[in-house]
Amino acid sequence: MSDAQPASYSIFGEFLAIIWHDGHESLLSFERLRKNCPCANCKGEPDLLGGLQMPAEQPEITGQSYVLKKMAPVGHYALQLTWGDGHSSGIYAFKYLRTLCDCDECVKSRATG
Ligand SMILES: [Zn+2]
Ligand SMILES: [Zn+2]
Repeated sequence: MSDAQPASYSIFGEFLAIIWHDGHESLLSFERLRKNCPCANCKGEPDLLGGLQMPAEQPEITGQSYVLKKMAPVGHYALQLTWGDGHSSGIYAFKYLRTLCDCDECVKSRATG
């Protein structure tokens, strides 16, 4: 499989820890995950002109919003995260989770392309 597949993942305090097949490790905080929720409600949907159509009402962020309630695998390619405030429409593809890694190495390689 590609390097966008995890060898293993686990909850570690308030972080989702992922070890990738290429040996890379990502530590993603719940807050970061929630702020980057990929669902249409949080991210908006691209409109026909290529712009971003933001929903009129964003889900309200509360103290519970950054509490991870449940994590369920979606096939072999993604995780569905359920948050303390009941929000659960975010499907986080592993490929996407890898792009959220903000370690020095990833930030650097993104900056240089
Ligand atoms: Zn969302
Ligand atoms: Zn990284």
